[in-house]
Amino acid sequence: MFARTKTVAHVHGIAIRIDATWVVIAALIGASLWARFSERPHVSPWAAPVMALVGAGLFFGSLLLHELGHALEAQRHGLEVRSITLFLFGGVTESSFRFRRPADELVMVAAGPATSFALSGLFGVVAWWAGAVGVEAVAAVAAVLAWVNLALGAFNLVPGVPLDGGRILQALVWRATGDRRRSMVVAAGVGRAIAAGMIGVGAALLLVVPGGAVDGLWLALIGWFLRRSATAEASFARLEGTLAGMALRDLLPPRPRPLDPWASVHDAELALVGAHDDDLLCVIDHGAVRGVVDVERLRSVPVAQRAAVPVSAVTEPAAGLRRVDGDADAACLLELPPSVPLVVVAGGHELGVVAPSRAVAVARRRAVAARR
Ligand SMILES: [Zn+2]
Repeated sequence: MFARTKTVAHVHGIAIRIDATWVVIAALIGASLWARFSERPHVSPWAAPVMALVGAGLFFGSLLLHELGHALEAQRHGLEVRSITLFLFGGVTESSFRFRRPADELVMVAAGPATSFALSGLFGVVAWWAGAVGVEAVAAVAAVLAWVNLALGAFNLVPGVPLDGGRILQALVWRATGDRRRSMVVAAGVGRAIAAGMIGVGAALLLVVPGGAVDGLWLALIGWFLRRSATAEASFARLEGTLAGMALRDLLPPRPRPLDPWASVHDAELALVGAHDDDLLCVIDHGAVRGVVDVERLRSVPVAQRAAVPVSAVTEPAAGLRRVDGDADAACLLELPPSVPLVVVAGGHELGVVAPSRAVAVARRRAVAARR
């Protein structure tokens, strides 16, 4: 989803990342705060930009704390949280596993808005206190942050996936029906409808209301982003439906691509001609999978040395790979890192090695073919 991100910190093993689009919103918020503080009486010309800078910093700190609220609660339930990314429209927390019970999901989702509301209260108290002792600048910045956090918490409770309110709706439908996939489809449908409404209202503001162009455009843009995310959510639910009931062993690549450990990197490259980016070669010795190698690993060897270097030098040992039962439900693929290879086994035999992303692609193609 994010093409140009930079990891700026790690908190509790979670990578904190900033997307390139974030620079746009950071500049917009800094500029609008500057303009707002400049208009206030008793604020000197040099103080306004400093207040704007501090205000923008605290705004993004608040956004990060909202996401950390989700992430730490997810970790508490044993989920693996990989990263938090700040981007144009806010923050996204990426975790690799899903909840087994709707009640746990409810708590994790509610933790974000709860954090925002708590921050709003905290900044409200600071604004009141600073106003009482006459520190105007602190009172002004804290008051803005109290409102911003209140708005952040409230907006996130709008019941359309991917917003927190949509996830709460999904968890409630899941609890009521006992069918998680069904709840995802319902929540995605509501999310798409709400997003369409936002686009409609945004377009009306933009075209009809005088002076409403900026707000209208912004609302329509957020609506467009939410609609896209809800659509992705629905197709994920459909994909999960496709995978459920398929056995992992049936999704192995049709042609195994075995390779001797003493073959050269150049030979391996030839064996991968015409392969997909995530195709793997199995290095097989005495009938057992010794390791796997992908295009990226082969390319790490300088071109001039590829004929001389044995492929075993760049092979990822099979001993370190995750082993998955070939009869397991293929939906388990969606909970695994997409590019880390798996050894598929059955009755003590290795059936093959596959990257989850490739197996999912095979399942997708098969589902499309079955519909024709
Ligand atoms: Zn949230």
